Amino acid sequence: MPELRQNPFTKQWVIIATERAKRPHDFVRKNDNPVTIPSYVANCPFCPGNEHLTPGESHSVHRNGKWQVRVVPNKFSALSSEGELSRMVDGLKRTVNGVGIHEVVVETPDHSQTTALLSEQDIEMIVRSYKDRYFAITDDTRVEHVTIFKNHGTSAGTSLEHPHSQIIATPIIPPDIRTRMEVALRFYDEHGKCIFCKVLMDELAEQVRIVHETQHFVCLVPFASLTPFSLWIFPRRHMASFGEIQPEEMLDLARMLRIVLAKIYNGLANPDFNYVVRTAPGENRYSRYYHWYVSVIPRLTKVAGFELGSGMFINPTIPETNARFLREVDVSNL
Ligand SMILES: [Zn+2]
Ligand SMILES: [Zn+2]
Repeated sequence: MPELRQNPFTKQWVIIATERAKRPHDFVRKNDNPVTIPSYVANCPFCPGNEHLTPGESHSVHRNGKWQVRVVPNKFSALSSEGELSRMVDGLKRTVNGVGIHEVVVETPDHSQTTALLSEQDIEMIVRSYKDRYFAITDDTRVEHVTIFKNHGTSAGTSLEHPHSQIIATPIIPPDIRTRMEVALRFYDEHGKCIFCKVLMDELAEQVRIVHETQHFVCLVPFASLTPFSLWIFPRRHMASFGEIQPEEMLDLARMLRIVLAKIYNGLANPDFNYVVRTAPGENRYSRYYHWYVSVIPRLTKVAGFELGSGMFINPTIPETNARFLREVDVSNL
């Protein structure tokens, strides 16, 4: 019998198709004609030497006199960084003008790299750049919320090969964050604790969905995982905002991200994926009921009519089986 499971943070339901479940190996990408990606591409706007092809950088980290990470405004920004915020309500039509910030984090000068193949120190520079930009952008009074995310591969929404992630600061709190905050606040009212800390404690006691643990972070497959091999990375310490991350936690998060992405890279043969940092809005940075985390979502299935029509998902895999599979993926070769 299939089983319906509910995500405790969003109240979203998923059908876990236990009977026609696919095995983890069914998702390993078959790539008969692997393409070798070059380290440098002459017309790539993110490759060294082509800095003039991007708007002026807002942040950079250098090593041995050369940039290692570069943050630049997105040339095709979804929002405008100029102008003042204005809201309008006309009957049921509500609008906010499109002010905000949209930046690209160029993660490495090497066009052929992918996060799983970078060193811990390289990834730490990326995490540090996220934090620096997060703080600078949160200071902007027009900004309500900052979303940090990565699209890797065409099914994850990017056509640019050069490793990069993005930061979008919006003048409203996105519904996905709002829902999580409302659910978490209700749980806090009732139980006097953070729902995320509680789930983390229960998962650590149960162990079956844990993929990897480091000193400061825990990675697990959600009990009600909407899609195959989705993962959550939680800081063990209660923190509502990503901006509260401390230096030793940044290094540890880099270590965790590298291991998790390497497990996906090795275990599922470099699938397309997204990750997103789900942090509290700036004004809720010390909230006792919200807890930031990273969602990693390999793009192995397509969102179809049922998902669009119902908001429910069908997951053709079993979260516990996926967790065991990823736990056992050896990443010592990377
Ligand atoms: Zn490039
Ligand atoms: Zn917490």
